[in-house]
Amino acid sequence: MRKRIVAGNWKMNKTYEEALSLVSEIDNMVKDEVTGDITVIVAPPFPFLQSVGKLTQGNDLMHLAAQNVSEHESGAYTGEVSATMLKSVGTEYVIIGHSERRMYHHEDAQTLYKKLKATIAQGLKPIFCCGEPLEERDAENHFEYVGKQLHNSLSYLSNEEFDQVVVAYEPIWAIGTGRTASSQQAQEMHAYIREQLSKMFDAEAAFNCSILYGGSCNPGNAKELFSQPDVDGGLIGGASLKSRDFADIIKSF
Ligand code: PEP
Repeated sequence: MRKRIVAGNWKMNKTYEEALSLVSEIDNMVKDEVTGDITVIVAPPFPFLQSVGKLTQGNDLMHLAAQNVSEHESGAYTGEVSATMLKSVGTEYVIIGHSERRMYHHEDAQTLYKKLKATIAQGLKPIFCCGEPLEERDAENHFEYVGKQLHNSLSYLSNEEFDQVVVAYEPIWAIGTGRTASSQQAQEMHAYIREQLSKMFDAEAAFNCSILYGGSCNPGNAKELFSQPDVDGGLIGGASLKSRDFADIIKSF
């Protein structure tokens, strides 16, 4: 069955001490307030992964993600971090293809495909991000744009590999802007994504794939977004840095 997931992408925020406080607060709120089958994921910066992960170890709902991974296994790649390294410190998920990495680090579809392979090969689960810039939406080209992103990186995976993938739809015009996609805009894109996935993989695998919405999701709009039939949760940026807001988003299911 499809998992309901709320994942917090902390991006390049927080010091070590602040990261530990934030995760402890989230962990306590999840323990005290969250009931039901929800997967909560936190994605701190690389240096904090192990310590943040340790603080959530006793809490079955909480899981650890990295914000990026190298496409290479090991070797002379200064500054890079491999999937094996991530796994060795307790990471379970890896965000791949976030629009900030596509934009500022020029990660193209082929590189993202290699990152997907490297991640899955280590038994980790990718959270594959897609989403259109404003000009593509204004030109009413958003479905085609997102369809290509999916096809160009995901379609080379096997059915078994695809079973490990979570997809996050994050319209670029909604990320960090305070401008959220309406629940109708989110639902129609999520349904389209699922349809595309069902053409590339088993219909059952596409049905079971969790598709998250990301882009200025907050405690005020999460309930409406998560109530859509093809919205299986959220990838949260800014609001995941405040424990109360993040916990309230988790409780919006
Ligand atoms: C993100 O960058 O993944 C994101 C969804 O950011 P925000 O929630 O701040 O829009």
